[in-house]
Amino acid sequence: MIRKYICIAEYPNVSKFTINDIIEIEKLDDGDYIIDGAIKTNRDMVYKHFKIAPHLPNFTFAPFSHSKMETWASCPKKFEWNYIIKPPRIEMPSPILEKGTLFHGILEFDMVDKLDQFELPDTFKALTKKDAETIIGQALDFAETSANYLWIKTLRGVKIPEQEMFLGPDLTPVETLDEALVRGFIDLLIYDEESGACYIFDWKTGGKSKEDLKKWPKPKDQLELYAIWANQALGAKYIETAFVYVEHDHMAKYVFEEKDIKSLKKKFKDKINNIENDKKFDKNLSQLCAWCDFKQNCLGIDNTRDPRTITKDEIMSVAKGTPKENKSNSKNTAFLDKIRSKAKS
Ligand code: SF4
Repeated sequence: MIRKYICIAEYPNVSKFTINDIIEIEKLDDGDYIIDGAIKTNRDMVYKHFKIAPHLPNFTFAPFSHSKMETWASCPKKFEWNYIIKPPRIEMPSPILEKGTLFHGILEFDMVDKLDQFELPDTFKALTKKDAETIIGQALDFAETSANYLWIKTLRGVKIPEQEMFLGPDLTPVETLDEALVRGFIDLLIYDEESGACYIFDWKTGGKSKEDLKKWPKPKDQLELYAIWANQALGAKYIETAFVYVEHDHMAKYVFEEKDIKSLKKKFKDKINNIENDKKFDKNLSQLCAWCDFKQNCLGIDNTRDPRTITKDEIMSVAKGTPKENKSNSKNTAFLDKIRSKAKS
């Protein structure tokens, strides 16, 4: 992907880049970068000498995606690390992400009866060949037996997998990423021009059980964004949307109508304004810090540690700059102190 960057520090031995110059930089698949179509370098050099140029006037952080907004909502400090400071970091291969990609790929091709054209990625960084085979088996089994999936297949209308959508500064559809305030990918769009029926589906892997998914439903913001786009880009007045949990054959459905669009647009404009006006990017300390990619930068907790060994006590302790052993403000620590003092006597 090629993006525009601003030069923030003079580049060694290259006099043509001066501070505040806008330069195009391409990120390569192997993690290296090409500056201005000519200089191959690594991410440390890019981080030191350039920062991403604002995409739209008045919107420093555009384009927004659903996950970008969610990152800020979960922890503004994480947003700052991920999208502003961007420290060089080692990307850890994720079996969960690779599983999701594999599932999505298979369903994308199967839904339009082109499974024979699906090509397995050459290498997985986190999954073994055996893992990949198991996941492919699960995906094919889901495609053949899931009542929800088979219902989706019978819906009338043009089926478009991986529909990219762009919304401009007033949240109306625009054509290109350059004009976009919001960008998204709809896993599956089905639109029947004749009846005006519009369906939007997002495949989800994960989730503990169908019961848990029903009890604690995921916020539907992502589907709301897609509904805003479908209403305005297609003229759809009644939009059925759903998260489809492929491992649990569960569908969480939400319907949006023309009358909902105005308030939805206001909701996302407010969200984006809150992010754009954030000056502090506060930390939101919680157990989730254990799984955060920036815990080393943010809290000094070694990124290579197994997140399951990191307790909330430890997170709070390091955040306050006090060693874990000196803290005694939690039930667990108080209990441990009691046991220790008994053991000594
Ligand atoms: S470690 Fe915690 S507080 Fe720091 S950025 Fe990550 S989630 Fe936020």
